Amino acid sequence: MGLIVQKFGGTSVADAERIHRAAKRAIAAKEKGNQVVVVVSAMGDATDDLIALAKQICADPPKREMDQLLATGEQVTIALMAMALHSQGHQAISFTGGQIGLVTDNAFSKARIQSINKQRIFEQLSEGKIVIIAGFQGVTPDGHFTTLGRGGSNATLVAIGAVLSADVCENYTDVDGIYTADPRIVKNARKIDRISYDEMLELSGLGASVLQTRAVEFAKKYNVPLHVRNSQNDNEGTWIVAETPNMEHILVSGAALKKDLTRVTIKSVPDRPGIAAKIFGDIAAANIVVDDIIQNVMDDNTAHISFTVEHGDLQDIKPVVDRLCTELGARTAPIYHGDLAKVSVVGVGMRAHTGVAQRMFKALADGHINIQNITTSEIKISCIIDREQGNMAIQIVHDAFELEKVK
Ligand code: ADP
Ligand code: ASP
Ligand code: MG
Repeated sequence: MGLIVQKFGGTSVADAERIHRAAKRAIAAKEKGNQVVVVVSAMGDATDDLIALAKQICADPPKREMDQLLATGEQVTIALMAMALHSQGHQAISFTGGQIGLVTDNAFSKARIQSINKQRIFEQLSEGKIVIIAGFQGVTPDGHFTTLGRGGSNATLVAIGAVLSADVCENYTDVDGIYTADPRIVKNARKIDRISYDEMLELSGLGASVLQTRAVEFAKKYNVPLHVRNSQNDNEGTWIVAETPNMEHILVSGAALKKDLTRVTIKSVPDRPGIAAKIFGDIAAANIVVDDIIQNVMDDNTAHISFTVEHGDLQDIKPVVDRLCTELGARTAPIYHGDLAKVSVVGVGMRAHTGVAQRMFKALADGHINIQNITTSEIKISCIIDREQGNMAIQIVHDAFELEKVK
């Protein structure tokens, strides 16, 4: 007898039949003697549809109202899931984020979870009910709806798993687990049986959208055992676990691709201490994540500072950058260069081996792909390239490291 938290993503609850199928999984786990909590996403493309609807009404919707709107997507699914369980003869109760005291900060559209009231969940579990919780949403301490960033139901899953000390968190999605690359782009990608939190963290951050980065961060911090599985079959999925020594013999575990990046260049700002701190401090205060920072110092004691942001953050970052340019006395207007992508390889084995970077660069060169910038960490290498070469680049890199072969 254990406690299992299951999360069903959008495709896994896209219609009535799939909701019934997901309910059956929850029942199967319950009938094995477990207590079961189910976290659900909005049905199918409901979140995208709501975003499109909002844009028809207003070009730049207020963030608070956007979260108010998007939170409705998950609210539909929780009620339907509870009804599905009821119709299959099981007791269930659904809760919104607010109803289980899932309190976040007030960073609308990318709020961070601060606390969860586990009491209410335990009370219902002890009455023998399956508890259904809306993913992706929370409330601020003063009761405004917030959302946790795209893919945020993953974060709800792991946070609930952590506060309830769940025996396992099962993330049900539309692929069999974590692959060596996105199986929709790289046709010969291979499913991985086990991957470390650190590798998954890098892969998620570098574009493997199957798990939200914050969810993996949380799973690592609280040592939550995470199992990514396909909701449409019973295959064993991928376990995301703490690193073990035998993982180190694998040089590269996976490749990832992030599309829709834009490079922002702030030109001719004074080259003196404190400028970078000011620029990146102000951008962080606006809750925008930047990456791939490059600084070029000119002969005239000025510097050009470039970095990339996700295209979706452009609207938010433009006013901040414009203000910074004025405040810092930049001599020209900032430059925005869109249509970039980033291809990366990740593996804990890189810590102990050399030659990975050279192999990646050579493969890209042989494929006539120009590398515009390179960033590395202990366990990853990333190259910025043209967006239109992205799909080709990830296949080339996947082939170069023979990721399709079991190591
Ligand atoms: P859900 O709605 O279940 O949350 P998502 O669409 O958010 O599902 O995530 C699943 C998708 O993630 C897959 O369909 C796949 O295309 C994509 N994906 C990207 N990288 C990977 C990877 N390395 N392994 C598995 N899936 C990946
Ligand atoms: N429905 C939200 C989204 O589409 C959250 C999620 O699915 O995880 O991003
Ligand atoms: Mg998702």
